[in-house]
Amino acid sequence: LLQEQLELEGSVVSYPRSIPIAFKRAKGAIVEDADGNRFIDFFAGAGVLNLGHSNADVLAYTAAQQQELVHCLDFPTENKLSAIRKILGNLPEHLRDQYKVSFGGPTGSDAVEAAIKLAKIKTGRDTIIAFTGGYHGMTSGALALTSNVGFRNKLPSLISNVHYVPYSYCYRCVFKQEPGTCNNQCVDYLRTVLEDSHSGVPKPAAIILEPIQGEGGNIVPPDGYLEDIVRLAHKHDVLVIFDEIQSGFFRSGEFLSCMHTDAVPDIITISKGLGGVGFPISALVYRKDVEAWGPGQHIGTFRGNQVSLAASNGAFDFVAKHGVAEHATRMGEYLTSRLEELKQDCPYLGQVRGRGLMIGMEFVQDQSSKEPFAEFVQAFRHACVHRGLLFEVGGHYNNVVRLVPPLIITPTIIDNAVAIMRSALEAIAV
Ligand code: PMP
Repeated sequence: LLQEQLELEGSVVSYPRSIPIAFKRAKGAIVEDADGNRFIDFFAGAGVLNLGHSNADVLAYTAAQQQELVHCLDFPTENKLSAIRKILGNLPEHLRDQYKVSFGGPTGSDAVEAAIKLAKIKTGRDTIIAFTGGYHGMTSGALALTSNVGFRNKLPSLISNVHYVPYSYCYRCVFKQEPGTCNNQCVDYLRTVLEDSHSGVPKPAAIILEPIQGEGGNIVPPDGYLEDIVRLAHKHDVLVIFDEIQSGFFRSGEFLSCMHTDAVPDIITISKGLGGVGFPISALVYRKDVEAWGPGQHIGTFRGNQVSLAASNGAFDFVAKHGVAEHATRMGEYLTSRLEELKQDCPYLGQVRGRGLMIGMEFVQDQSSKEPFAEFVQAFRHACVHRGLLFEVGGHYNNVVRLVPPLIITPTIIDNAVAIMRSALEAIAV
């Protein structure tokens, strides 16, 4: 199956080249491949299946909705209003009245495109500031905000006027500072870009960032960083877009990962987990005072598919009924503690970091030089897949194991996954 797909789809195939399996079925945190092998899934469809594969409660909502109504463009339905109310109802209480929601089309990239467009219309400005290590999607606008130049080779004509500033990646501080004792040089860098008329950067419409970087290596910025960014942006009348497409929908233990902080953005993009069990949907949550769309200025055939919206409703209800946010926090702490044990025995595991169930393991050739060890990570992933564990690899240097398991995992599943990692590490020890 895998071979046939590779031949028919050609080099556009991405994930199966690094995780060479053909899927057959999946339930909860377990995937079965076409040959009947079973895997623990710490990849979860790239951080989508927060409630597990084929969550029965969510599927009951979507099955009922299919009998009722599937497609109706962006006409109002009770189903859609209910999803909007649930999104707003999960924001901090004092902010609920200040935001509105619109649906951005089936993919995360759609929401990012809408966010940039809204910011430009609102401010009448063109420039956007993005961050090193940031990932925002593959459509032209979103790709222009995605820092990995490997994705943009041979594409000279994406949207221009994007400027990058360093993300707060303390393990590899570009200013060679130690966490806790630095003077927030990365915030100062942004300040210079905004305030120094010789920075070469025109006044931006918006600053876009992930409150926890995903593809960049599951990087949690230090306390106060997001608040500093928002304060600085607002001082200059620049809008802040938080891309919560991966870090949102309870992955961090809160509905949105920025809710661990006091930072209040102007626009938020959500997708992935919002579709419950993998139905495509994305949303834009924005402050009412940012509203700037003219009538019909942002349209699209698939904005707000009713089955996807029913999946969102089912997902929110499941989270509330089963205390999923608290569970994700507890499981995140447990998984982190088990990985810290692993780190004691592995000289190449430089750092374990994360929040909730968005956890990164950064591998290095040497703990003090921190030279990235991407080859080791490739071998490690291969050995883990072979033993029955799936995860994604990413990071600025492709040397970070990115764990984004379903939030419904149990201590037993974690123990089994860590045992697989330990066995894989022993097998490939260099
Ligand atoms: N933003 C972030 C933070 C993401 O992680 C992703 C997907 N990995 C996207 C945007 C793009 O979403 P999609 O692939 O659905 O277009």
